[in-house]
Amino acid sequence: MDFLCNKILVATRLAREAEGLKKADSVLALTCGIGVQAVAKVVDKVVHPAANTVSLGGLHGLWPAEELCQACGECVLDYTGGICPIAFCAKHLLNGPCGGSQDGKCEVDKDTDCAWQLICDRLKSLGKLDSLARIIEAKNWQQSASLEQRKIKFTKAML
Ligand code: SF4
Ligand code: SF4
Repeated sequence: MDFLCNKILVATRLAREAEGLKKADSVLALTCGIGVQAVAKVVDKVVHPAANTVSLGGLHGLWPAEELCQACGECVLDYTGGICPIAFCAKHLLNGPCGGSQDGKCEVDKDTDCAWQLICDRLKSLGKLDSLARIIEAKNWQQSASLEQRKIKFTKAML
């Protein structure tokens, strides 16, 4: 299926496979991190990423979409209910919330849902809260396509 990042297309096409999907334990998505998240939004199953996204180049079918992937190169969507903590948690936390969220909102931005609240809610609805027991190891950020060296520029007035 092409353009897995377009939820409307995915929902329409998967509707034809409803019977098979009902019997499936989970779904394997051969696509980038955005596509995996889009599929996870339209199916009530665990969606496994078949790839570690390192590039978001090429033709995109994402319309309309709020899913984001930072092409970190070590996809963790398997364990986070198809919601990316790298892209959506303000602190890129991999092993649960920071403890600062209130009423489901992020402490860094009160207008934004806490990514880990969303992840926990999603895992609960899938009956997969036990995924939280798994410790995700520290990432190798050198594989991330979004890795950029911070450059600090000093002006004379700062010295
Ligand atoms: S940033 Fe990493 S964990 Fe998040 S969707 Fe992309 S590849 Fe997966
Ligand atoms: S409140 Fe939630 S989204 Fe915000 S930094 Fe903490 S864990 Fe991440």
